[in-house]
Amino acid sequence: MHPVIENTMRTGYADGRIPDVVACEHCGEDDQVVEFEGLTFCSTDCLVRWLLENDYAKKIA
Ligand SMILES: [Zn+2]
Repeated sequence: MHPVIENTMRTGYADGRIPDVVACEHCGEDDQVVEFEGLTFCSTDCLVRWLLENDYAKKIA
């Protein structure tokens, strides 16, 4: 089988390299744009949700 076809079937990309998109470790969304204390979040909504879930809002209030 041609390598391009093989790669495409295996990874969905013709060159066989999967782009550097890492799913958000907090909610599983693909974009990570917000950084907070060394953690990365896909959005401010996600960050706020995480802060609430971890009672962070209370600690810094
Ligand atoms: Zn997220």
